[in-house]
Amino acid sequence: MDNGIFIEMINGTQFKAKWARQFNPADREITVYVEGHREKKILNLARICCIRMAEPPYPDMEPGEMDPLQVIEIVSGKSYSVRTLKEHRDQYGFFAVPVDKDLSEKMVYFTNGCIRSRKSFMPVGKILENQGAVSREDLEKALSEQRRLRTMRVGEIISEDYQLEHNVIDEIITQAQQEGKAGKWLRVGDILVGAGLVTKEQVEAALASQKEGKKKKIGQLLVDRGLVTEEQVLAALATKFHLPFVDLATIDPDPKALSAFSSDLVMQLKVFPVADRGDYLEVATSRPTEASISDNLRFHTNRQIKLVTATPEQIQHAISRYYLSDDDMLRQLVDDLGKDDFQQVETREEAVKESDSGTIRLGNRILIDAYQQRASDIHLEPGGPGLPMGIRYRIDGICKTIHMLQPRFTKPLISRLKIMASLDIAEHRKPQSGKILLVIQGKRVEYRLEITPTVGGNEDAVLRVLTYSAPMTLDEIDLSPANLQKLKTIIAKPYGIVLCVGPTGSGKTTSLHAALAYINKPERKIWTVEDPVEIAQPGLRQVEIREKTGLTYMEALRSLLRADPDVVMIGEMRDRQAAHTAIETSLTGHLVFSTLHTNSAAETVTRLIEMGEEIFNLADTLLGVVAQRLARRLCRHCREAYHPSREEYDRLREYYGEKMFKVHGLPDYNEAFTLKRGRGCDECGDSGYRGRLAVHELMVCTEAVREAIKAGGAVRAIQEVAVAEGMRTLRMDGVEKILAGLTDLEQIRRVCL
Ligand SMILES: [Zn+2]
Repeated sequence: MDNGIFIEMINGTQFKAKWARQFNPADREITVYVEGHREKKILNLARICCIRMAEPPYPDMEPGEMDPLQVIEIVSGKSYSVRTLKEHRDQYGFFAVPVDKDLSEKMVYFTNGCIRSRKSFMPVGKILENQGAVSREDLEKALSEQRRLRTMRVGEIISEDYQLEHNVIDEIITQAQQEGKAGKWLRVGDILVGAGLVTKEQVEAALASQKEGKKKKIGQLLVDRGLVTEEQVLAALATKFHLPFVDLATIDPDPKALSAFSSDLVMQLKVFPVADRGDYLEVATSRPTEASISDNLRFHTNRQIKLVTATPEQIQHAISRYYLSDDDMLRQLVDDLGKDDFQQVETREEAVKESDSGTIRLGNRILIDAYQQRASDIHLEPGGPGLPMGIRYRIDGICKTIHMLQPRFTKPLISRLKIMASLDIAEHRKPQSGKILLVIQGKRVEYRLEITPTVGGNEDAVLRVLTYSAPMTLDEIDLSPANLQKLKTIIAKPYGIVLCVGPTGSGKTTSLHAALAYINKPERKIWTVEDPVEIAQPGLRQVEIREKTGLTYMEALRSLLRADPDVVMIGEMRDRQAAHTAIETSLTGHLVFSTLHTNSAAETVTRLIEMGEEIFNLADTLLGVVAQRLARRLCRHCREAYHPSREEYDRLREYYGEKMFKVHGLPDYNEAFTLKRGRGCDECGDSGYRGRLAVHELMVCTEAVREAIKAGGAVRAIQEVAVAEGMRTLRMDGVEKILAGLTDLEQIRRVCL
């Protein structure tokens, strides 16, 4: 076949063909007639490994100067022995003359991205000598040292390392053999140990160094002897493996290349992406001898890879500068944001886009950081024109500004979050909501994103962080011993309704799940309908509302009521209809749990009546109401007892109610009276508070409370009866927790009003 060609594709297929148009690598495609087909075919050069040619592609092509013999392995695993043509290489590949006898073609064109390894036969020592790094004399010495190490026996190593005379060792061995103690095959090391000359550990060390000596490469030997530097060896290896040597300090990494790899991957393989050349990615390694690196990179990116070499120090430095591990993220995030070096890292151009690796990382970093800081919400608040964007986290119920971000990041970052949540980035006028899922340290974290258009054509973003925590038990939700006992009693009833009330973020869902966990037994069928599901509990059948796709609260509720429940938890009675359904369900022999946005237990009753519920139905079915709040808890690490002033004590007593303070037998003021306060430490960021403390008001519907409800009493009347029946109001429970040293009056006042 004259002038025929043989094409090997990256996907492993290969076929004979003929040129239909003269080959020009700059076209980045070739036009050929494939054997057996009449039509011309255009093939993308990026999908081709190599083209073997019976004749040079241009009639007047002169091979010119050739490199020494080398072996080229392509990604399919096939190897070619060739001499490459120095003058015929381009951005996409290079020409070579095969020297395989069984290859009939005169020339091969290899594409850059398909090279698995490329290795010249010239030994590293020779290359170092050619490069003037080492003299012939020193090289010879090192080579003989290498030969010596490769043949060195354990006895010799021991004699050298532990300064035993050769003849002493020989003597002992001979003696041992003569006495028949040592079989012919007894190892030298064992004999020496037996003779008490060396210890077992020393023999093992000698064996290990023998093994190492056998493996020792010439480059390492030269480095050990101080004759060349590691860098020179690496440069020689780069030459041997035909991988260009790059100076990462002078290279601006390409954001597209950076984003092609995860930080895990670059850290694991110790590589650094330099450029995205379209057809292939250029990646720096300091281990040019390991072909598996490029295999790994190909596998993970599904792209063609061309390796270049750089020193390990430079690669390490570049990785730590452009990729951050989770831990580094935590440490660096706060420092980085808004600072000059951060800008420099992220982009040197004025325009920032949502697809820039910097923006992508920034988005991820904020999401991860907020999670690590135990934030429940992230608020992104664009400033006016030219003003920075504020990022606030809500941690333990308190909003705190964490970062101020350069204004040019505002829009790209919001767009990036929209992309992550599959929202429309072109839409800026309407509110949108969606969710983002991340797995952080093996834990599934969901972020509910709410985009709200604000003045000046901006969009605010708020993300609610949902961690799918395991349910807490009733003992863990800070109930006072009396409340714990009462709650356990009412939720053990077969039917009726238990409500948990309070503002958003007061821990209602946590409490309801703790209650459900307490009664979660195989013999009870428990359905929940929630929006969203925040706590997953095995044994419960949990339904998540998806208003967008049509699964509404009422539909879900109607469906599960037909599905034979014993217990139903309705995430929220958000309207009259839901409230009515909940009450009806409890009246028909089910145990129902739900929540409502009311301030106190007593107020819940009047609110339900206002919503149209029958007083008598409600009084009959209501088992109890838990009103609750979350206050900040004193830091366990730094809280300390102190003796408060009389005034401080009086404020507490007054806040509790002086009469009940006495009735409930709370302590008198005296010299020994103490409260606790947080001194501030590293654990709590010097605030003196860490974590949250729930405060409760549990109204049990005793006979007297029922009568008060049926009497159509006002909130205050119902509350008075309940307190007379032993209920602690939110304030009372709060003060009792202050007396127990868990929090302080300031925090209780803040949440209880
Ligand atoms: Zn502390």
